[in-house]
Order: sequence, then C-alpha cells, then structure tokens
Amino acid sequence: MEAISKNFFLYLSNNKLLDRFAKRFGAKFGADKIVGGETFTHAIPIIQQLNHDGLEVTVDHLGEFVDCEEESRDRAGECIRTIQQIASGGLRSEVSLKLTSLGLDISRDLVIENLSLILKEAEKHEITVTIDMEDSSRCGETLDIYRELKEKYPNLGTVVQSYLYRSDEDLDALNDCDPYLRLVKGAYKESPKVAFSEKKLVDDNLKHLIKKNLLNGHYTAVASHDDRIVEYTKALAEEHSIPREQFEFQMLYGMRNQMQKDLVEEGYKVRVYLPYGEDWYGYFMRRLAERPANIAFAVKGIFSK
Ligand SMILES: Cc1cc2nc3c(=O)[nH]c(=O)nc-3n(C[C@H](O)[C@H](O)[C@H](O)COP(=O)(O)OP(=O)(O)OC[C@H]3O[C@@H](n4cnc5c(N)ncnc54)[C@H](O)[C@@H]3O)c2cc1C
Repeated sequence: MEAISKNFFLYLSNNKLLDRFAKRFGAKFGADKIVGGETFTHAIPIIQQLNHDGLEVTVDHLGEFVDCEEESRDRAGECIRTIQQIASGGLRSEVSLKLTSLGLDISRDLVIENLSLILKEAEKHEITVTIDMEDSSRCGETLDIYRELKEKYPNLGTVVQSYLYRSDEDLDALNDCDPYLRLVKGAYKESPKVAFSEKKLVDDNLKHLIKKNLLNGHYTAVASHDDRIVEYTKALAEEHSIPREQFEFQMLYGMRNQMQKDLVEEGYKVRVYLPYGEDWYGYFMRRLAERPANIAFAVKGIFSK
C-alpha cells in the first residue's frame, strides 16, 4: 500500500497538467505548512523566527520544468536578489537551487553562466550555495559542474543520495576537492538498475556515506528526519571525536519541529530547508510520496479553504 501511494504521488509530481492547474487555481492543499510563501518577502519573517529559535536556514526558490533560456536567466536573477536580501536583512541563511531551473536541460554553458553569476554574488556576502540533486539522469552532469565550479568558488555545496549505487564512488571522486556535501536518502522514483529499492540498504548506505565523508575530514550536512540516522551520527561523532563544527543536521521546514529544537538545545547545528515560490506543486507531491502521514494535513488544508 505504501509503495502504491509513493508511486502515485511521484507520478503526480511530474504531471505538467496538474502543475499548471495548481498554479492557475492557486489551491494550496496544505502546502503552506511546508512552504514559506509564494515570494521571498513572505519567507523573511519565517526565517527571522527560525533564526530566533537558534536554527540556521537554507532557502530554495522552487522551480522545475524550466525549458526556455529567458526563464532560466530570470531564475538566476531571482536567486541573486534573494542573496542580496539575505545579506541586507542580516538573515542567517544559505541558498539551495536546482540546476534544471538554471537551464540544465537546455545547455551546459547556460547553467555554468547562470550559476557563476549567482556564486559571484554569494561569495561577496560569504553565503554558501548548495546544488540540490535531482533524478539520476542528471546526477553525473550535476557532479561534473559541481567539480568545475568548486575550484573557483569554495562556497559551493552539493548533494549525494544514498539510494544510488554510484554514490560511494562519487564520494571517492569528490574527495580531492574538499566537498561540502549534504547527504540524503534520495527523493525521486528510480529504477532498480541504478538504485537500491530496499529501504534497509538505502539506510545502511546513508550511514556508510556519512561515516566516510566525516572520516575523510569534510564538512557534512546530514539531511534526514530519521531518528536512527540522527542517533547514528551523534554516536559516530562521539566515537571518533569529530568536532561539532564539522557537521550539521538539516531538516525540511515543517517536519519534526520538536526534534529540530531538541537538537539545538543539545548544542548541534541544525539547518532548516525552507522552499518558497509559486512552483510549490512538484515539491509538495514529493513530500506526500515520502510520508503518507503528510496527507492528513494536506486534506485538512483542502477542507479548511
Ligand atoms: C534538508 C533536506 C534536503 C534534501 N535535499 C534533497 C535533494 O537535494 N535531493 C533529493 O533527492 N532528496 C533530498 N531530500 C529528501 C531526502 O532524499 C529524503 O527523501 C527525505 O528526507 C526522506 O528521508 P528521511 O531520511 O528524512 O526519512 P524516511 O526514510 O522518509 O523516514 C524514516 C523514519 O523517520 C521518521 N520520519 C521521517 N519523516 C518524518 C516526519 N515528517 N515526522 C515524523 N517522523 C518522521 C519516521 O520514523 C520514518 O519511519 C532532502 C531532505 C532534507 C531533509
């Protein structure tokens, strides 16, 4: 039953017709519990509150399916304005982005050009930018672009997904560029040809990648809501005397709020991933696929309108 609902919501997350429908009719379906509003201005008070509660933030201007050059340049412009507003507002926030929103499906040169403009602005304000990882067909090119730009811009991070068989080798290949990595299980629908389908193997591989990256001495963002992964990381750091400045926990906005606060009280760095923007639909559907319990508040959202 769980697998059926997961596949169903992942299918919906890619449905362009429903995406347009959701935007046109503006129905939020409970999305406001996990999305920080339709513009960055809406997100600012949320970031201020999170910072006030001791939480760091990374904001993501939601956007997928960009297939025209002009739109990709608009996305880059929005990202640059966001960085400027973070700096001028004294907000403790980084930025996350997806390469497809900057034109990955159009041309590599276009992405490099857009991303370089963003990174130049981020560097001025000492703000880190993390490239989210999308589906496996884009993984190789995303990591190539990461390596290329990381040499020039140290304030660049990316993501490695433990459900992919290739990830262990990817970590080895990235080892010499002092990567800033967010380690996750992976959120897309992938074929057994490229990804573990058994949950235990995905979980075990995430633990393996966390250990490897930390023992290699690299900064590691452990992005999971799973108690077992969080406890594993704490115990590992204790056992190997890994300083708390070398890692952080990351969780999505609206998920496990109490756990986020408890970790801050214990003295760990916790970063909340706060998406905002009109294109909330694909993000929202992937969250529903991950955790059917999220459906409960989505349904409440529909009926409270
Ligand atoms: C900050 C951040 C950034 C991410 N970036 C990417 C990315 O770039 N690319 C990508 O593919 N994926 C990304 N993801 C998504 C990630 O890949 C997983 O799909 C997602 O985090 C679900 O896996 P999990 O480890 O949180 O826990 P799951 O494996 O979903 O759940 C394990 C257990 O954790 C507990 N749990 C999980 N969620 C909740 C909850 N909401 N409330 C209560 N208990 C819960 C439950 O006990 C559950 O059984 C990101 C996730 C985070 C947190």
